Amino acid sequence: MNEFDIIADKVKLFEKMYDVMRIVDPMKKEVLELKEGVLCKIESECYKLWKANVICENCVSIRAYNEDNTFIKMEYSSNKIFMITAVPISIHRKKFVIELLKDATNSLLMQNGEYGCEMKMLSTIEQMNRILVKDELTNLYNRRFINERLPVDLLKSSLENKPLSIIFADIDFFKSINDTYGHPAGDQLLREFADELQRHIRSGKDWAARYGGEEFLICLSDSDIDAARVVADTIRKSIMKKEFVLGNERVHVTCSFGVHTVCDGYECLTVDGVIEIADRNLYKAKAEGRNRVM
Ligand code: GH3
Ligand code: MG
Ligand code: MG
Repeated sequence: MNEFDIIADKVKLFEKMYDVMRIVDPMKKEVLELKEGVLCKIESECYKLWKANVICENCVSIRAYNEDNTFIKMEYSSNKIFMITAVPISIHRKKFVIELLKDATNSLLMQNGEYGCEMKMLSTIEQMNRILVKDELTNLYNRRFINERLPVDLLKSSLENKPLSIIFADIDFFKSINDTYGHPAGDQLLREFADELQRHIRSGKDWAARYGGEEFLICLSDSDIDAARVVADTIRKSIMKKEFVLGNERVHVTCSFGVHTVCDGYECLTVDGVIEIADRNLYKAKAEGRNRVM
C-alpha cells in the first residue's frame, strides 16, 4: 500500500467529513488519480473546481507542499462555504497534496439569531483569505504571494514554452520624501505609486506586489524582454510626469527599474535566481543615474 492508499483508507472512517477527495500537483496545478498504482492526470487546472479561470490567489495546497505540513482554509464560492484541508503526501517518492473538500455552508455557520449574520461570516472568510496575500498599505500582493506564486508562474511559463518577465522597481531617493514631508505623506505616495503600477498591467495575466519598503515586483506572463522593457518604461514615464498630492504639497518622484526575462529552459528557474538578476539590473539603473530601465 502506498501512502495515498493508506491515507485514503483512514479518511474513509471520516467519510462524512468530506465531500471531495483529490490528489493535486500544486506546482503544475494538475488533478491526478491513482489507477492501479499509476498516477494519471485527470484535470489540467485544479482551480476549475471553483469555476475560476485563474490560479487561486491564496492556494493552500502550495503552502502544504512548500512547508510539508497540513493546512486548512475556508473558501467562499457561489454562496457556499468550503473547508479545504491540504495534506502533503509522497507517491512513488514524488511530492503531492491531497485536498479534502467539505461544503460547510450549513454545518459551520455561527448563528446568534441576528438576521444577515451568515453574510457577515461569508465576507469575513473572503476578507481573511485576501488579507493573507495582500500588502496592507498599498493593497498590492505581498511577499507571501510572491514566494508562493512566482515558482508556479515560472514552471508554467517553462512548460508552455513562453517567456516570463519580472520588473523590479525601486523609488528614487524615497528617504528624502519621508524626511521632508513626513512618514504619513510617504505612505500616501506609496499608495498612489502602487495604483499607478496596477494601472499599467493586464488584470488577470500580470500581477504586482510590494517586495518591501519602496520596492515593488511586477510579473508579466507571456512577455518577452522587449514587451517588458516597454511596460517598465511606460511606468517610468508616467511616474515621472505624475504629480503626487501630499497634503498641501505637490511632489514629483522618479523610479528605477531592473528587468529580467526567463525565456528558455536553460535559465535559472528559482525565485531567488530571477529576483537576484532583476535586482542586479536595478542596481545598475541606480548606479547609472536613476530614473531608468535596465
Ligand atoms: P535610492 O534612490 O538609492 O533607492 O534611495 P532611497 O532613499 O529610496 O533608498 P533608501 O533605501 O535609503 O531608503 C528607503 C526608505 O524607504 C527608507 C525608509 O524609511 C522608507 N520606507 C520603507 N518602508 C516605508 C513605509 O512603509 N512607509 C514610509 N513612509 N517609508 C518607508
Ligand atoms: Mg530600496
Ligand atoms: Mg529607493
